[in-house]
Formats: sequence, C-alpha cells, structure tokens
Amino acid sequence: MLQLFDTATQKTTELAMREPGVVGLYVCGPTVYGPPHVGHGRSVLIYDVLRRYLEFRGVFVQHVSNITDIDDKIINRARSEGRDWHEVAVECEAEWLAAMDRMGVLRPQQQPHATDYVDKMIDLIASLKEKGYAYETSEGVYLRAALVPEYGLLTHQSIDDRRAGARVELDETKDDPIDFALWKRAKPDEPVWHSPWGDGRPGWHTECVVMSLSLLGEGFELHGGGQDLIFPHHENERAQAVADGHLFARHWMHNGLVTVAGEKMSKSLGNFTTLKDLLDHDDARSYRFLVLQAHYRSPLEVNATTIDAAASGLARLDALVRRVSRVDPSLDKGAGVQSAQLRERFIQAMDADLDTPAALAEIFEAIRLANSLVDSGDASAARVISDTVVELLGALGLVVGQGESADEEVNEMIARRDLARAQRDFATADEMRAQLEARGWTVEDTPEGTRIHR
Ligand SMILES: [Zn+2]
Repeated sequence: MLQLFDTATQKTTELAMREPGVVGLYVCGPTVYGPPHVGHGRSVLIYDVLRRYLEFRGVFVQHVSNITDIDDKIINRARSEGRDWHEVAVECEAEWLAAMDRMGVLRPQQQPHATDYVDKMIDLIASLKEKGYAYETSEGVYLRAALVPEYGLLTHQSIDDRRAGARVELDETKDDPIDFALWKRAKPDEPVWHSPWGDGRPGWHTECVVMSLSLLGEGFELHGGGQDLIFPHHENERAQAVADGHLFARHWMHNGLVTVAGEKMSKSLGNFTTLKDLLDHDDARSYRFLVLQAHYRSPLEVNATTIDAAASGLARLDALVRRVSRVDPSLDKGAGVQSAQLRERFIQAMDADLDTPAALAEIFEAIRLANSLVDSGDASAARVISDTVVELLGALGLVVGQGESADEEVNEMIARRDLARAQRDFATADEMRAQLEARGWTVEDTPEGTRIHR
C-alpha cells in the first residue's frame, strides 16, 4: 500500500485509513484574489496525481479543497479597483476553475467556501475561549499557542525558537508573540460578520479546521498543501483542532515549491508566472509531465527550457503509442509477462512516497523495449506493452497517443505513416508525408516514429 512521507513524524509511513479503502483528503485551496500561478498549478497537479493513483489502486478518495473567498488580499484588490469584494472573489474563482479544467484536474467532490462556514468558526472560537485556550484583546480573539500540546509538531521548532522568530512582527496586544488571531475586529469599510466579540471576521487558519472536520470527520486521513503552508497555516490549524479536543489529520503531506529562473524569456511566453500563460504556450499535458518528472517534495524549476524538454519526453511516449496503434495485440506470444512486470514496478515506485520520476523511468524503459520489438518485427508484443503504458500513464492523469495535433485526421495520417514505415511500405509512407506537408506540417523522422511541427 501507499507509503507517504509525513511532515509531522518526518518518516515515510503507510497511509493509515479509518475504514479500509477510503481516504479523506483535505487540500488547502486558493484565496481567490488573482490569477492562479504555476506554483498553484503544480500543487493541484500533485494532489490530482495522488488521488488518481489511489483510485487506480481501488481506494475511494473523498477529496475536499476549500475556496478562501474572504481575505485581506481580496479586500485590498477590490478597494484598489473600486469594486465589491464579493465580485472579485466570484470572478477569480471562475478563473481558477477554468485553469484547473484546462489542466485536466479532477474537481474535488467538495469545494466549500469560507464564507459559508463563518457560524461554525464562531462556534469553534467560542469553544476555545471557554476551554481557556483563547483570549480577547482590543484587536480580536487570539489562541494561546504555548498551551497547545506539541505546538511546533509540523515545524519541528521549539516554542522558544518560534518566539525568537515571531518577535520581529510583535503585535502589542498579544500576550505572547506566538499567539495568533482567531477573530479579527473589523476595520472601517470591511465586510463584517457579527460575533460575541464584536463585528469582524475569522482568521484564515480557523476556516480550514472547521471545513475539514465538518466534511471529513474526526481523524481524517490526509491533509495536504504546499511547503509554504506548513507555518503558520497548518501548524495553527492543528493547534486549534487539538486545543478543542479533536483528532485532526492523521498524516501531513507537503509538496515542494516552484522556482522560476530570473533569466529573460521570450516576450510571448512571459515568465510563466501565471498558469494561463503557461497553458497558452504549451499543451497542458506538458506541465503535468514536467511535474511528474520531479519528486513531489523537491523544488521544480519551471521555464521555457524545462517545459520544452517535458514536451519532447511526452512526444516520445506519443510516438510509440501511435507507432503501434494499428497493430493487432492478439497475435502476441509473450509480452504479457513483461507488461505485468512493468505494472508491478510502476506500483512499487508509486507506493514508495509517490516516486513519479522512478515510475516514469520504468515507463521509458518499457518504451525502449517496445520500440526494439517493433524494429525486430514483433509489433504485437510492442502493442501489448504500449497498452499497459497507456493505462499506467492514465493512472497519473496523462493521456498519450493522441499525437501532436488535436486534429484526428492528422493523427490518423501519422499513424498510417508509422505503420507503413514499420512494414517497409515506403510508397504509402511518402504519400502520408506529402499529405501532412500539404497541410502545413513539417515532417521529421525519429527512431520513435514520425514527428510533426509547424
Ligand atoms: Zn488551509
């Protein structure tokens, strides 16, 4: 079964389930105040791959990811544009969902909005106050972090270290620099909710505690997010849940961040900071493929070079699948064993803390084998292996073999040309080349088959 690195224990351990075969997954979602950037895209793709892989292994994943639709950043943007904050949130949420759909990300079953849970957040804050974990100041309500058992579990920092770090942003009204806001009293012209502590709004860390526990229940299996959320967000989520007597997430997963080199790139590419720029430049599969090429906990460099390299890797996969797409697999005599071994090694790699680079290495090894089988005249065996490759990549959300063009007719010509070349039918191969060129494609022969580009 799947073993994952746990940020809390710093060990790679089996993902334990309350009920065998069911995983509750909570992933912190976007604060909807601007266009999603490539870092958001990577994080969402990683949890999409995790979910798809678990489903491939027969596990049902209840995937919950929130939408933070009230926040300082939303209010500030609305103010600077002279608009209503809610209008900004609705617009940015639509933009977010559109980008996720373009990336082929499965929508979480539930995408709760923070503003729908304010009553429950007020209940939690009241309960924390009653239990002596929270106190009121002129600014709002704060959690007394030092009282929480194992505060610092995720950051692996002692309370004293944390205090030393927190002094810089010392808030005079807090009793202790490590305390954090549960309820913020409203400033003029801000959206407000009524509470026993005056009009205001809940702190960001409170919303995810309430939404995750409400929708996934006590001791849900897995809480995820980017490494930038470990502190303060996740540490402070956990602190509230534990202080209120809940069993919170059993396992914590954090993905590495995206780096974008400062080097100048072509103007038309921008610097890929927004997902839309990236998706306009390349097909969405290239970004998913790039993300899969790095381990999810490592940093990932995203720039034109790494994206283009990912696109060529993908092209090799497409080429093999196309090359054998018209071959009858039923004539195969022995590739079933190789396919089974491939599947086993793929699962082994993925089970070892979602090692997607190792899983892809197995797939590329299989592609080399399949191509050599075609070359030696055993195309049926290659087709059997290719079918397994398609299935395993599908488990990572990657559709291969469609070709470099979205045009079915063009892909058909490429497939016919590859088959003709494999059968040494050069007349047909030349005819297909001519037809592709007539449509404006430049045709290139590679060891893995035909490649086209404009
Ligand atoms: Zn969160």
